[in-house]
Parts: sequence; C-alpha cells; structure tokens
Amino acid sequence: MNPLRGLFLVAADNSWLRVQAQRRGFVRRAVSRFMPGETLDDALAAAKTLAGARLGTILTHLGENVADAAEARAVADHYLEVVRRVRESGLDAEVSVKLTQLGLDLGTAVAIENLGRIADCARTIPGRLWVDMESSPYVDRTFGVLRAVRDRHPRLGVAVQAYLHRSAADLETLVADGFAVRVVKGAYREPADVAMPRKADVDESFFRLAARLLADDARRNGASLTAGTHDPRLIARIVAYADSLRIPRDAYEFAMLYGIQRSEQARLAAEGHRCRVLVSYGRYWFPWYMRRLAERPANVLFVVRGMLGR
Ligand SMILES: Cc1cc2nc3c(=O)[nH]c(=O)nc-3n(C[C@H](O)[C@H](O)[C@H](O)COP(=O)(O)OP(=O)(O)OC[C@H]3O[C@@H](n4cnc5c(N)ncnc54)[C@H](O)[C@@H]3O)c2cc1C
Repeated sequence: MNPLRGLFLVAADNSWLRVQAQRRGFVRRAVSRFMPGETLDDALAAAKTLAGARLGTILTHLGENVADAAEARAVADHYLEVVRRVRESGLDAEVSVKLTQLGLDLGTAVAIENLGRIADCARTIPGRLWVDMESSPYVDRTFGVLRAVRDRHPRLGVAVQAYLHRSAADLETLVADGFAVRVVKGAYREPADVAMPRKADVDESFFRLAARLLADDARRNGASLTAGTHDPRLIARIVAYADSLRIPRDAYEFAMLYGIQRSEQARLAAEGHRCRVLVSYGRYWFPWYMRRLAERPANVLFVVRGMLGR
C-alpha cells in the first residue's frame, strides 16, 4: 500500500485528529470541494443543480460507528425526513446508508430495526435504497441485515468492494437474490489476506464483477450494475464491453462522488449514459474526508492552499 494512503487511513480512525480538524476553517474549506454543505437543504440544493445536468443523486448523511441506540434511532429518523423531502421535491434522488451509523456495533437487531424503518418509508419513492459496504469485519453482518429486511423494500442495493478476495463469491449470491449492486474499488485499510494490495488486480476484479452483473441471467434475475468509480479507463472498458453485447445504456449506470471528475460525469450524461452523483453531507465528515485523501493524496494540496489563504 502507498505509505501516504496508509497514513490517511490510520488518521481516519483517530478521534483527536477529528476534533482538531473539525475546528479548523481551512480544513473545512478544503472539504467543501467534496461536500456541498453540512445540511440536508445543502444536499437537496446540490441534487437540484445536478438534475439540471441530467445527473441523478444518491444522498448520504455522514456518520459511522454510532455507539448509542438513541443516536442510531435518530439517524434513522433523519433518513425518514430525507425520504419525505425527496418525495416532495420529485427529485431523482436515492438514499445510501451506513449500517454502523444505524447501530450495527450495538448488534444486528438494532441495525435491522433501523434499516427496516427506513426501508418501509423509502419504498414510497421510486429510487433504490443503498447500503454502503464498510470495513471487512462488517461484510457478513451487512449481508445478514440486508437479507433480513429484503421483503420490506423491492429495490434494495448494496456496495461490493472489488479489492476483497471474497467479492466474486459474494456477488454470486447477490445475483441469485436479484439485488442491485454498486461495485466500488474499496476505501478501507485491509490486510493482504483480505484485500488485494495491487491496484491492477483491483481494477481487473472491478471489471469482472461489473461484467458478471451485465450477464443475461443476472439482469433477468433483477440484479443490476451501478459502477461506482471515477476511473476513466475502467469506465471506457465497461462501456465497450456492454456495447459489444448490445446491452442498452439504460440497463446499467455509473456513480461518482460529488466534486470528483465533474467533466467525466457531464460527458457520460451527454452521451446518454445513466450517471449518479453521491452527495454526502453532515457534520461528521472527518473519517470520510481522510478516505478521500487516501484515494488521491494530491487532494491534500487543497488543504495546504486553504491554510495559505489561496
Ligand atoms: C458512488 C460511490 C460510492 C462508494 N461507496 C463505497 C462504499 O460503500 N464502500 C467503500 O469501501 N468505498 C466506496 N466508495 C469509494 C471507492 O471504494 C473508492 O475508494 C473510490 O471511488 C476511488 O476509487 P476509483 O474507482 O475512483 O478509482 P481510482 O483508481 O482510485 O481513481 C481513478 C481516478 O479518479 C480520480 N479520483 C479518485 N478518487 C479521487 C479523490 N478522492 N479525489 C480526487 N480525484 C479522485 C483520480 O483522477 C484518479 O486518477 C464509493 C465510491 C463511489 C464513487
């Protein structure tokens, strides 16, 4: 692993650094490049602007590893409000949640209860309800919670991380069950026996997972591909593969993070591809921001520029 990537991923788990960073205006200014604001109103305003550019949205309220049942319940309540606001606005906006923010560390029953409430409510809007994938110790529990609520929402989706050695096998069961799948490379610090250390292997694994989801039997079963990547080479490879099989462009989609590769987002939409932007908002942005720095350490330049007032 690139040592800088490792450093940022260690920092992501450091609560002292989190408190310090959240107090610093120049860090907050750097973060704003990837986040339209801290409130739901900020996120919905961004979704409206993106809709004008034919880009759908996925909304996520930042937070993770909530250790208090009342707080986890309040997070679920917040998502009920998000669904209500999306319904009122008529925006093409989906919702993505982290199970540790819904109390997974307190037990799967807590996460099932909270995700179940969101699922009951979110089925009233047309989009999918996504579950993020967190670090590897949570993978089995995440699938367990997902399956426990599957009858409560017809369009449930989950992220699958291409860097995990286990993901090809996991994908087979998700395909059999007809889940929507968001393939991503993977953003956490993982040991080599759990996740592929070489980027080239991760990229190849990503393509194979995407290709599996494009297969006839997968699509017939109701499984679908959302390719969550900013990697232009991978995107071109997936499009070429789908075109070679004459798969219609509306049968799969791409998703990127707010503020990253904006021109690629616009290009895909202009070429008739479905593309969504994941808009994160909220006050608990530090670990999430450290993972964005780990993905591209050059992003730290924005922090330095902010510090120098440029
Ligand atoms: C919609 C979406 C949902 C995601 N959900 C999850 C999830 O549930 N679980 C999880 O573990 N991970 C998730 N991720 C993060 C993902 O795992 C990767 O860490 C992240 O997408 C970077 O990988 P990449 O595919 O963009 O490719 P890379 O090879 O890392 O990047 C390709 C190019 O994209 C640009 N780029 C990538 N990242 C950045 C950045 N931070 N800042 C600026 N430019 C950048 C650069 O130009 C880079 O050269 C998600 C990502 C997306 C887009």
